[in-house]
Amino acid sequence: MDIPFEFKPCILCGNKENFLELVLTKDRRIHQTVRTVICKECGLVFLNPGPTEEGYLGYYQKTLGVRATPPLRENIIRKKSVLASFQIRFIKDCLGDISSMDTVDVGSGWGGFLYYLKPEVGTLVATEVLEPVKMYIEKEFQCPLSLVTRLSDGFPPASFDLITATAVIEHYTNPLPVVLDYAQALRPGGSLFLFTPDVKGMCFSLGIDQYFKFLHPYNYSVNSLRSLLSKAGFTDFHYWSSQPDYSLRSLRNPAHIVAGNILMVAKKGKTPGQDEDLYKDDPAEIVEIFKRHQIIEDEYQKRRLIWLSPWAKPLRAAARLLPKSSRDQYLSMVEQYETRYKSIVGVL
Ligand SMILES: [Zn+2]
Repeated sequence: MDIPFEFKPCILCGNKENFLELVLTKDRRIHQTVRTVICKECGLVFLNPGPTEEGYLGYYQKTLGVRATPPLRENIIRKKSVLASFQIRFIKDCLGDISSMDTVDVGSGWGGFLYYLKPEVGTLVATEVLEPVKMYIEKEFQCPLSLVTRLSDGFPPASFDLITATAVIEHYTNPLPVVLDYAQALRPGGSLFLFTPDVKGMCFSLGIDQYFKFLHPYNYSVNSLRSLLSKAGFTDFHYWSSQPDYSLRSLRNPAHIVAGNILMVAKKGKTPGQDEDLYKDDPAEIVEIFKRHQIIEDEYQKRRLIWLSPWAKPLRAAARLLPKSSRDQYLSMVEQYETRYKSIVGVL
C-alpha cells in the first residue's frame, strides 16, 4: 500500500522552509522511508513530508481495521491496570471531583482506559475509527461508541465536561482542526486530558525506526503540545512528564523500555485565535537528547551481542537461575510521579 505524503508547513509557527532533518527511518509497516524534522523556529518535531489525512485514515481502516483481532477482555483490563489508574489519578489530581462529568473518550482502542474511567465519571461515551472496535466496546464494556473522526460529526457543540484522549493526539496528520473540534465539543470551563509520548523522553529500545514512524506524524513536547492547545483557546495547563527508565532492562532481560510520556490537562478558555501562546523548544536540545539515547542504545546492543555469544553460555545458564521480574512496565512512571511531581514547574 503506497501512502501519499505531502509537504507541510509548521502548524505552530507557520514556518515553511526552515527545518532541520533529525532522522530518516525505514517504516516497515508501509515499506517507505519517512523523514522526521525539527522546526528551527519553534522546535516542533514532525514528519515532513507527512502522510495525507486520507492516506493515513485509509491505511488505518483498510489495514489495521481488517487485521484487528479483539483481545480477551481480562487481558486488556490487566494490561492497562497500572497505566490507566495512574492516568485517572492525574486527572483527579488536576480537576478534583469528576464524578458528575459528561465525558467522551476519543480514540478508545480496545477500551482498556475506558474500562477504568467509566466508574469515575458521570456519563461516558467513546469514539473510534475502526469498525470492529465498536461492537467490542459496546458488548464488553457497555459503553456507547460513535464511529466518527470528529466529535462534531457525532455530537452537538458543548456536549461534554471532559474529553480524554490517551495515545491519540500523536496519530493525527492535521492536529489543529482536531483540537478546535475538541474545544467546540466542550462546555465552557470543560477540560481536556491528553496522554502522549514526550519527544524529550525519547528512547530506542525497539530501534529508532520504531520510535519515529508513519503512525506518529507528530512528536510532541510539553511546549509544542501547549502551543497547539493554545491555538484552540485552551488555557490553565497542568502537565507532568516521565523519563525512560532503563533500570528495567538487563542483558538477561532485554525488556522494552517505556519512553517518556506527557500527561496534560487543559481547560477550554479563550476564544480560539485570541492571545495564542507559542512555547518554543531549542532544536539543539532535541538533537542532543536524540544522540544521547542513540548512544545508550548502541552500547546496550553491543553488550548484548557479547552476552549472546557462544562463550558467554555458562553465564547465561547461571543467570537463568535468578528470578525474573514481573514488574509492570508503567510502574516506573508512577514512582517518578510520586517522588518528583512537586518539583516540576507548572504542575499541580
Ligand atoms: Zn514551527
